[in-house]
Amino acid sequence: SPVYEAIHLKKEYDAGQVQALRGISFKVNAGEFVAITGPSGCGKSTLLQMLGALDRPASGTLNYRGQSLPDVADPSAYRAHEIGFIFQAFHLLPTCTAVENVQIPMFEGKLGMKQRRERAVDLLKQVGLGHRLDHYPGKLSGGERQRVAIARSLANSPTVLLADEPTGNLDSTNATHVLDLLVRLHEEQKMTLIMVTHDMDIARMAGRTILMKDGLLVSDSLNQPVSSLN
Ligand code: ADP
Ligand code: ADP
Repeated sequence: SPVYEAIHLKKEYDAGQVQALRGISFKVNAGEFVAITGPSGCGKSTLLQMLGALDRPASGTLNYRGQSLPDVADPSAYRAHEIGFIFQAFHLLPTCTAVENVQIPMFEGKLGMKQRRERAVDLLKQVGLGHRLDHYPGKLSGGERQRVAIARSLANSPTVLLADEPTGNLDSTNATHVLDLLVRLHEEQKMTLIMVTHDMDIARMAGRTILMKDGLLVSDSLNQPVSSLN
């Protein structure tokens, strides 16, 4: 069965004055890398918030592995254990080192102190930051900060990564590194990855692109394989 199934999802803001989603339907299968793209204000972030159970649709069906997500008993447990979030602005804690930041989601789980640190070190090595373990975010480049955030998103071995404009604050070199990392996670670990981006060139890095406009899905198509932005 699919990881996500959305049928005619709708979402309004401001008592119906803004129709952010006007009937969106799609499925995402395990192991897919899907980009959601379209112009600013078309509803991409709203859709990602529904998938992350950060907000609920007004109507329609949204299932996660066959279970209704708006009806899930414990949304915070769903977010902590099933989903890894990656944001445009990184959202690292500035007073915690890289290895401490990566451990934060692990406090939701059962690992002891030593195991948490070992896992965080291992994840930072996976994203190429084995030499930045004890650096504070303020001492890291934007690309390094986002790689710490990606390591953190993997802390609880999520089923799905949800990334909202993950390269939006990065220069093109760092953006390429971060995208290459996401592609590698998708290919090597078979991660299910859903990435919002307004940039069509970045969207083409995914296996599949969903194009939105004015709260509607206008196309949903597979992409030709590309190895890098450059
Ligand atoms: P995108 O991510 O594609 O830029 P959004 O999902 O952020 O689009 O926004 C879709 C529409 O909903 C826009 O018109 C936006 O202004 C509006 N919107 C988003 N969030 C809110 C909110 N919390 N309150 C009111 N309007 C909102
Ligand atoms: P980004 O483009 O960086 O993803 P968003 O457009 O999603 O940013 O907006 C970030 C936050 O602001 C979201 O929580 C969203 O709900 C809120 N937001 C977006 N548009 C509006 C709006 N018109 N009124 C109120 N809140 C909004």
